[in-house]
Amino acid sequence: MIGPVLGLGALGLFFGFALAFASQKFAAETDPKVEAITESLPGANCGACGYPGCSAFAEAVAKGETSVDGCTPGGKTTAQEIAEILGVSHDESEESYVAEVACLGGRDHCKEQFDYDGVQDCRAAMMYSNGFKACEYGCLGLGTCEEVCPFDAIEMQDNGIPYIDPEKCKGCNKCVNICPKQVIRMINTKTEHHVRCNSLDKGKVVKKVCEVGCIGCGICAKLCPVDAITIENNLASIDSHECINCGKCKEKCPQDCITSDLEYTTN
Ligand code: SF4
Ligand code: SF4
Repeated sequence: MIGPVLGLGALGLFFGFALAFASQKFAAETDPKVEAITESLPGANCGACGYPGCSAFAEAVAKGETSVDGCTPGGKTTAQEIAEILGVSHDESEESYVAEVACLGGRDHCKEQFDYDGVQDCRAAMMYSNGFKACEYGCLGLGTCEEVCPFDAIEMQDNGIPYIDPEKCKGCNKCVNICPKQVIRMINTKTEHHVRCNSLDKGKVVKKVCEVGCIGCGICAKLCPVDAITIENNLASIDSHECINCGKCKEKCPQDCITSDLEYTTN
């Protein structure tokens, strides 16, 4: 009996040593730069950088496969830290972006084409005639974006339009990607004035369904002293690089669909 026990013990010892030797000999060396970069990242694993997680991004940036400012939640501070770890220069003057809902047509301003009583998810609601809103471009207000935001930056308002807190938004794009109406966009934080509508319908159609939709009248474009506004497909848009934030457009817009100061709440 003692013989087999000793034999097994010897085998166990042998494999133990063999494993310890193999783990030392074939251990993959970790690049200290990758470790340092990983530590400097927010660790949200949100995928905004286009990589499956923070460590994959850290490896890619250390290899020079992606730029030091690829981590949007980390912003300028993280980009600067990564640049220092890698010993490269980084232009700190880069612009920052936050998400904005390009629609003010909550249930108090925009008509509905039918009563929807299905699953409370914007993607599910889209399966019935592209949603219940009378405006085919408008926010459905069931809060799918709120659920997906990893930074708790989105909160549904009583009128069914999401409020996005610019202080909390890290620009990860998750809400932009999930919104089935494609009504969320990233805006340059330097520009205060924005046209909060997404409708490409003609003015007549917009007026029938929504009190605060852009009718493409062009008053804003005519008043803009620096030609920052263009009207395309019946919708006005403000060029963030040209806009001087004079506010003339907001003052005269007959539909009140231009907001300022990253003023996200409606009414
Ligand atoms: S922004 Fe898009 S996802 Fe969010 S509530 Fe509106 S339709 Fe739904
Ligand atoms: S003035 Fe208002 S409604 Fe007219 S085009 Fe400009 S944003 Fe649209």
